[in-house]
Amino acid sequence: MNIAIDGPAGSGKSTIAKIAAGRLKFIYVDTGAMYRALALYCIRAGVDISKEEEVRKVLPDIHIRIAYDEDGQQVYLNGENVSGLIRTEQVSASTSKVSAYPCVRAKLLDLQRNLAKENDVIMDGRDIGTNILPDAELKIYLTASVKERAGRRYKELLEKGEEVSLGQIEEEISQRDYQDKNRETAPLRQAEDAVYLDTTGLTIQQVSDKVCRLALGRMKEWK
Ligand code: C5P
Repeated sequence: MNIAIDGPAGSGKSTIAKIAAGRLKFIYVDTGAMYRALALYCIRAGVDISKEEEVRKVLPDIHIRIAYDEDGQQVYLNGENVSGLIRTEQVSASTSKVSAYPCVRAKLLDLQRNLAKENDVIMDGRDIGTNILPDAELKIYLTASVKERAGRRYKELLEKGEEVSLGQIEEEISQRDYQDKNRETAPLRQAEDAVYLDTTGLTIQQVSDKVCRLALGRMKEWK
């Protein structure tokens, strides 16, 4: 059984998917981490990411692998575990740009589909329900207001000791929303058969309970 969770940056997808995967004994697949690792390669290699052709040229040199340990999903870029290096604002912004290129999406498609073929997965991203796993047994579109999403991200960064401004984060999130929703290839949108869940004002517990209830309901139907 596969569960697809899509939604904009900061909507709580990864937090909720991780909790639900633990409870349901599914594997959590964070597809954003794959795009982030690819963007990190481009940044390090000094690739001009505003040009698709330049990105396409380096794609054969990029090998991304996903593995699991006691800390959850780990993403490897050419053999190096980069899971801790891909969460910066610079990587986020570059990821949104490279992930709009069809050649980049094509490169990561099989990796994502194969994980879902071999395991019961909860996979989060932008086009999982619409494109990667159109036959997923449960699809959820998770969202929240920009203000709420920026506030959550702001708190997270403050806790990490990073100096940031709330206004700037709001601006960055709005920009990423715009890029993800308006690109030509696999834009972020709700699949027709996805359950829409607005998490504004809801706690993590409330949202994860709701997702698990939906999943358990589908499991019964599916069996
Ligand atoms: O989910 P996360 O915020 O880590 O994703 C980073 C960026 O990667 C998104 O803003 C989006 O541009 C891109 N992405 C994507 N498709 C996915 C997952 C992420 O385009 N399935």
